[in-house]
Amino acid sequence: MNGCVRTEIEDDILIIVIDHPPVNACSTPVRRGLLDAIGQLAGAPELRAGVLIGAGRQFVVGADIKEFDRPPQSPALFEVANAFESCAKPIVAALHGAALGGGLELGLACDARVAEADCLLGLPEVGLGLIPGAGGTQRLPRLVGPVHAIRIIGGSERLRAAQAVEIGLVDKLAGTSLRADAIEYARALEGRKRCTRDRQVPVEKAADIEAAARSVRRAGGKERPAVLAAVEAIGLSMHLPFEDALARERTLFLQLRHSDEAAALRHQFFAERNASKLSLPPQARVRPVSIVAIIGAGTMGAGISISALDAGLKVILLEQDDAALERGLGRLRDHYANRTASGKISAELAERVLDRLEPTTDWSRIAPADLIIEAVFEDMDAKRAVFALIDRHARPGAVLASNTSYLDVDVIARTTSRPGDVLGLHFFSPAHVMKLVEIVRGAETAPSVLATAMQLARALDKQAVVTGNAFGFIGNRIYNAYRRHCEFMLEDGAWPEEIDAALEDFGFAMGPFAVADLSGLDIAWRMRRAQAARRHPDERYVPILDRLCEQGRFGRKAGRGYYTYEDGKRSQASDQTVRATIEAASAERGIERRALNAEEIQRRALAAMANEAACLLAEGVAARASDVDVVLVRGYGFPRWRGGPIFEAWRLGATAWEQSMDELASIEGPRFVRGDFSVLFDKTEQATH
Ligand code: NAD
Repeated sequence: MNGCVRTEIEDDILIIVIDHPPVNACSTPVRRGLLDAIGQLAGAPELRAGVLIGAGRQFVVGADIKEFDRPPQSPALFEVANAFESCAKPIVAALHGAALGGGLELGLACDARVAEADCLLGLPEVGLGLIPGAGGTQRLPRLVGPVHAIRIIGGSERLRAAQAVEIGLVDKLAGTSLRADAIEYARALEGRKRCTRDRQVPVEKAADIEAAARSVRRAGGKERPAVLAAVEAIGLSMHLPFEDALARERTLFLQLRHSDEAAALRHQFFAERNASKLSLPPQARVRPVSIVAIIGAGTMGAGISISALDAGLKVILLEQDDAALERGLGRLRDHYANRTASGKISAELAERVLDRLEPTTDWSRIAPADLIIEAVFEDMDAKRAVFALIDRHARPGAVLASNTSYLDVDVIARTTSRPGDVLGLHFFSPAHVMKLVEIVRGAETAPSVLATAMQLARALDKQAVVTGNAFGFIGNRIYNAYRRHCEFMLEDGAWPEEIDAALEDFGFAMGPFAVADLSGLDIAWRMRRAQAARRHPDERYVPILDRLCEQGRFGRKAGRGYYTYEDGKRSQASDQTVRATIEAASAERGIERRALNAEEIQRRALAAMANEAACLLAEGVAARASDVDVVLVRGYGFPRWRGGPIFEAWRLGATAWEQSMDELASIEGPRFVRGDFSVLFDKTEQATH
């Protein structure tokens, strides 16, 4: 055929093999090759049926996403899918590895599907701001009914083959040989075409369909155009003839493909992929990690332990005394008890997982660990004391990591006799849930240690981003700039609830003051006091948070912060005391308060983030602009469908950037540092294309 699709003949069966490494993406040459293969099947009288299979470990993982940024190339995937159904001879899809997106759409257009048990099936297009555009929204409901179709397409639900058999998506689970079983199935079908398009959509209760639609529409808090389009298209499968509904699916697909949201989601997709790649010298060998020691069983230590245990690693959990150890173990036991009670895992599995946990207060027990992660209090003296002990007890070659949020990893590394083995692994809270981990590269961190950290992130199913060693690394530094600017807006005239509402409307799950109340204002207060002596007198400093803390308003845990909390419920607005504190701060600075509308709040908050990102890039703390977007989206609740602060700034363009920078300069005063847009632009371009 061509380089990407080849055919093999087994007696009277044509095996069509998609061979397009690394993941058999459905790019143009694959689509062309498939049409040729169908031509061969149709034109050879001695061939009775076909089998479609992938070479290597995957069937087909989906479309070639790079092609979405270019003019469409013929044939489109929907034409290939239609050609499968138009071919008079039956074709069986042999599914293995991943059959996702366009790959599954091809499978749906076949006459039957045989799958390996561990095959993963799904139509994740809405995650890229799209809907399946090759008949998926019409064929899937014909096989599994509208409710499952809404969950699979609108909710991006993925299934294993056994579940797919249960709901009628897959006809048969393969035994030891997928290929042989698919051939046998194809022979059995000989002469019988079973086009999915000709099936009736199973009739289901309207209330069930509506409930499924409501649940996917609400997921993520905001209604996304792609989800709405998916629900609409699936709805059409019940009412319109196949051809008409297919045409509407195509129109919706093309509209979405050119949307800002789809471009932003594609950017984020590539940004994440790039962030996971690190060019290291070939001698940078990954050090095997099967035993992890975690020092400190507090909030973070417990979360990291769960993450490591769930990844199959053995965990040695060390605390400073028995009482603290018992508290930490309580956190772990509660977590697994909840998982068991809610039916997420079996009691036996929970027991097996906890068997891999070794709690201790004895430092000599960490000796076998391949990796040691320190998660004690955020205090340099405490960290240095702990690293001196780690150095004494860890075996040579072990990787030594700190989960510090802000502190200097090089200072920590120099406490040991082996600074090359030290790095930062900055997990986010709750560490077993949040996908991001910042990998902090110290001045002396060895390449093999970085390579090991990248591999660990993959093993823990985390998104890694490498960052330089600077105060707050990438994420906290940008978040602080954002939060600081939101405080300027308080002083300039907005109330906390107005700022929170504007940013929640922008797409953040929570506004900055609601977040601050949740994490506790006292931590920031303590840090501000520690930094007070170093603060430049010309720096614009907003004292509102300090004043609130002086009044005992430490946030949600104290029942009051920027908001008041009754029975755990947040008040709709800040109370009169808070307003008076804010007004007093404005008056002290001689500011005449004025109303700020949502557009101004969003514009200024975004500009503050993007400017800090540009400064980080100029300083070399972030290697690529797109890394910043990954950190903000994965670690700080920036709306994924907006692509990230850099993507937004880049989309708005250079003129808007300069205007925003002038605005920030006038707001912030003489200490303002202006970021350079051109650096941002170049780096984003290099990273994504
Ligand atoms: P925490 O107070 O909940 O837990 C710290 C634990 O360390 C306590 O259980 C304490 O007993 C233990 N500990 C202290 N000294 C010890 C020693 N010498 N040996 C053994 N154990 C010792 O703190 P946390 O929130 O889990 O934070 C831990 C680290 O993670 C800090 O560096 C923090 O900045 C960082 N971090 C925290 C978050 C967060 O949201 N909480 C997020 C990212 C990073």
